[in-house]
Amino acid sequence: MLILHCPYCGVDADETELHAGGEAHLKREGPGSTDAAFEDYLFMRHNPKGVHLERWQHVYGCGKWFLAARCTATLEVFGTYAAQTLAPPQHVKDAITAKYPDWSWEALQ
Ligand SMILES: [Zn+2]
Repeated sequence: MLILHCPYCGVDADETELHAGGEAHLKREGPGSTDAAFEDYLFMRHNPKGVHLERWQHVYGCGKWFLAARCTATLEVFGTYAAQTLAPPQHVKDAITAKYPDWSWEALQ
C-alpha cells in the first residue's frame, strides 16, 4: 500500500485518504502559446516506470494538495513537499539520485 506523508498536517496517509492528481510541475501554456505547445500541455504526460513526480490531495484529511516523488515500480517514496514548490527540494533530489544515479531533474524540464 502506498503511504505518503502530508507536508501540511504531518499525517502519514495511506492511499485511501488521498486522491491522485497526475503529473507535477507542468508548465502551463497561455493565450500566446503555439497550438503545439498548448496541445502538449493538455494531453502529453510522462508515464515512466521509475521515478515520477506527482500531485496528490489529502482529500480525507486536511484537503490540501501536495507533491510527491516516488518510484512507480516499487512504490518507494523519496519525499513529499508543498504544491507551491517550483522544483523538488534538494533533499528529495538527493534521495532520488542516491537510488537512481542517472535520474535528472533537468531532464524533465
Ligand atoms: Zn494533510
